[in-house]
Amino acid sequence: MKIRFGAAGNPDSFYAAGYRSSLQMPAYLASLGLNAYEYQLSRGVRISEKMARQLGEEAVKHDVLLSVHAPYYINFASPDPQIQASSREHLLKSVEAARWLGAQRVVFHPGGAARMERETAVQLVKERLQEVIAILEDRGWTDVYLCPETMGKKNQVGTLAEVIEFCQFSPMLLPCVDFGHLNALLQGELETEAGMNRVLEDLAAGLGPDVLSKLHVHFSPVEYTTGGEKRHATVADGIPPDFRWLVPGLKAWKATPVIICESAGTQAEDACHYRDLYLEG
Ligand SMILES: [Zn+2]
Repeated sequence: MKIRFGAAGNPDSFYAAGYRSSLQMPAYLASLGLNAYEYQLSRGVRISEKMARQLGEEAVKHDVLLSVHAPYYINFASPDPQIQASSREHLLKSVEAARWLGAQRVVFHPGGAARMERETAVQLVKERLQEVIAILEDRGWTDVYLCPETMGKKNQVGTLAEVIEFCQFSPMLLPCVDFGHLNALLQGELETEAGMNRVLEDLAAGLGPDVLSKLHVHFSPVEYTTGGEKRHATVADGIPPDFRWLVPGLKAWKATPVIICESAGTQAEDACHYRDLYLEG
């Protein structure tokens, strides 16, 4: 594995340059010196098999690693059997699309824990993941990683410890560490090198140091209040976290994550900024 930098969805600059189709994104990213692209299924899995396979070919041609972001509607912490079933379906459809794309990583939000015991919510997520993995094994769809994401709000399942706990359960699970979310949740605790390092240490301790060679990362400036995440900003806004704080830890651990930037509109430009900080560091 090599470290990779890329964008979530299509940046404003892509459309401003006159491009229209996501099929053009791998070439566009490569022209900027980026090599990862997270395709957004966040509002529903609607990509056709034909389009997905074409995009997969473009990605291979330009050495762009593809991942997908599963729908926001997934809530594995819900006790409601109907929501459980639809959440399972959303994730399975995301895996199917990922396999058409040749994408190995399917990022998803574990679920909401408002008005319920934290332990119950975490237990429900574990049960749902167990079911999904059993179905994937049945179908022979084991060539993907399910990536539970660390979340930015207190009432969402997805603290770092919870994500590590989920990932201990199966080799098909790989953490998606969203440093902007974590920093919002922890009210600025990651705004130093030491704070960033602690995240890498916890991952290595919980899942073995090898996890840092293939980790999935979201990195973007995230504004927060006492309740946690408020909104995704941009590097130009001067909002933390600063990628400079993560670079020494990545180098010390010889980590080679896939780093996806989710800045609002400038995700490709900000990903280039992060890449440059890494190369200079
Ligand atoms: Zn997400």
